[in-house]
Amino acid sequence: MIVPRSIPTDSYLFLTGDDDTPAEWPATRFPEYTDERLTQFVDHLRAMSNGDLASGLPVLSSAGLYTLVVVLARAAGVGHGSWTAAARITEQLPAATPALLTELRRRDCRGMGDDPTGPVRRGRLLQLVGAFTRLSQPGATARQRRKMQGDCPFCGDPASLLVSLPAVTWRCFGCSRSGGLREFAECLLTQTLSRSAAPGQPQ
Ligand SMILES: [Zn+2]
Repeated sequence: MIVPRSIPTDSYLFLTGDDDTPAEWPATRFPEYTDERLTQFVDHLRAMSNGDLASGLPVLSSAGLYTLVVVLARAAGVGHGSWTAAARITEQLPAATPALLTELRRRDCRGMGDDPTGPVRRGRLLQLVGAFTRLSQPGATARQRRKMQGDCPFCGDPASLLVSLPAVTWRCFGCSRSGGLREFAECLLTQTLSRSAAPGQPQ
C-alpha cells in the first residue's frame, strides 16, 4: 500500500472528543489514550517509517509526537502496567527515545506553542498526564476547581501531582518535578531511557 507522505500520519486519530461535560476551565477535550488507539497509532507509524519509529518523527504533527511519548513510556513500563503491544517496540526504545526528545525540543513553541495557556494546550496536558495517572478535582472551592490532582507517575507519591488549569503547568510535591506539557513528556522519556538502556551501557 502506498501512503502519501505529505499527509500527517496521525491526523485522523486526533479528532476532538464530543464529550459535552462542562469544564471548569476551557480545555479542548481530546480523547483518552486507550491501548487500542495507541496500538493503531504504532501500526500506522511503523508502516509509514518502514518499521523504524525514529525515522518517522519528521512526518508527525505535534500531537503525534506526544502520542509517541505515551507509546514509548508505556512500552518501557513507566507509571503504567503492561501493554500488550509493548513487545513490538521494546527493541526500538534505545534509538527512538533520544530521537524523540531531540525532536520535541526542536519543535517546542511551534504547533501547540502559539497559545501556551489556551484550551488546546490545556487539553493536551490533561490528556498526557491523564494517560499516566487518574486525575480528579481536589475539592469544590473556587481555588480547588482550578486544579487537578493525581498520583505522581515518577516518584509514586499518592495525590502529590497537581495540574494548574489556569497556568497549564504541573508540579509534584513529592519529587519536586514540575513544568508544562513538554517537561512532562521529557520526564517520561528520561525514565523510558533509563529503563531501556542496554545492559552494560552507561546510564
Ligand atoms: Zn513525584
